Amino acid sequence: MLPQYKHIKDIDEEVYDALQKEHERQNYKINLIASENYTSKAVLEAQGCIMTNKYAEGYPGKRYYGGCENVDIAERLAIERCKRLFGAEHANVQPHSGSAANMAVYFTVLKPRDTILSMDVTHGGHLSHSSPVNFSGKLYNVVTYGVSRKDEMIDHDEVLGIARKAKPKLIVVGASAYPRIIDFKRFHEIADDVGAYLMADIAHIAGMVTAGVHPSPVPHADFVTTTTHKTLRGARGGIVMCREEFARDVDRAVFPGMQGGPLMHVIAAKAVCLKEALTPEFKAYQEQIVKNAKALADVLIENRLRLVSGGTDNHLMLVNLRELGITGKDAEAYLSECGIILNKNTIPFEELGPFVTSGIRIGTPSVTTRGMKENEMRLIGSLIARGVQNMGDANVRDKILSEIGALCEKFPVP
Ligand SMILES: *Cc1c(COP(=O)(O)O)cnc(C)c1O
Repeated sequence: MLPQYKHIKDIDEEVYDALQKEHERQNYKINLIASENYTSKAVLEAQGCIMTNKYAEGYPGKRYYGGCENVDIAERLAIERCKRLFGAEHANVQPHSGSAANMAVYFTVLKPRDTILSMDVTHGGHLSHSSPVNFSGKLYNVVTYGVSRKDEMIDHDEVLGIARKAKPKLIVVGASAYPRIIDFKRFHEIADDVGAYLMADIAHIAGMVTAGVHPSPVPHADFVTTTTHKTLRGARGGIVMCREEFARDVDRAVFPGMQGGPLMHVIAAKAVCLKEALTPEFKAYQEQIVKNAKALADVLIENRLRLVSGGTDNHLMLVNLRELGITGKDAEAYLSECGIILNKNTIPFEELGPFVTSGIRIGTPSVTTRGMKENEMRLIGSLIARGVQNMGDANVRDKILSEIGALCEKFPVP
């Protein structure tokens, strides 16, 4: 039995059963999903804490309910730690998710049908930046940029050209599947050139930004949004940072503009993860994520797999499977049978749909949290290469499964 869930077991066997299976899955498979991580026990405790019982519409010191003195402490800590960690002038820690944080910025500076310039989803952008099936694509006039055919990286001159034509009110920079350093300074210059606001969405790279292994957008962008559950390794949620001049409008956009009561238990957990992120151990963790990604990418390349843009500078890489004649969907399914969990992903200039795709995305934040280093990355990389080069083979699958099982035994989830 899982002692931490004993009350659930007493009252609800079905949910308890699913939890127990999920515990097994997280412990006995290798997680390479670039947007996931394992939180600390402290974050988990905070996210399940009694502050979930409290209504606290408003902000610390200015609430619409009585009895907020303790949740105010938690929210003030989260805000102060966030500002210190990123060097931001203002932080709003209430958005329920990364998408909600982005929505708050749009509601701050845009009116419906205004123009946003953002990265195309199939080139690495996020749904909430531009997708026609998302509110962003429905509410706003979206113009997109992508990576260049030449080197599969962002071509800033091309972005400038598109920006001059489109005259956007807001430029969005940041991605969910871009393996290279993002030049926020260049985007600032482009935004200035066309008189647009600049929003940097660092949902994926926030942890690396705090550690200085990825340049920070804070000096360059009017707004910086992030999730707290990816490389920041915290509670599931979002944050908006901005310069003081926008503070009041951002706060009003979040509440009462788009949300009611904040999730105070999640905000308490955000405070805890931000405290963890201020430690030297967290900086070392971020450095190791990047070293691990490089080691993994090198092995894949040695095994003749083609990486989008030829490599990685951050925590993730994309494998182009086109030349192997297999799809991302099939690779994801077969590797999952092998105990390796990752996701299919569109690649730049994709010819298949988003449910099939020609690529897979691989990230190192989770395996690095388990304590794995370059040697383990070399093993995992060679297993992935063997998997995609022997798709469907049951013997190969069993061999990989047993190697992954041994690796999981050696590196328990903290
Ligand atoms: C994950 C992600 C988000 C959204 O996060 P949710 O919490 O899932 O809404 C936003 N932007 C980028 C770039 C992301 O990768």
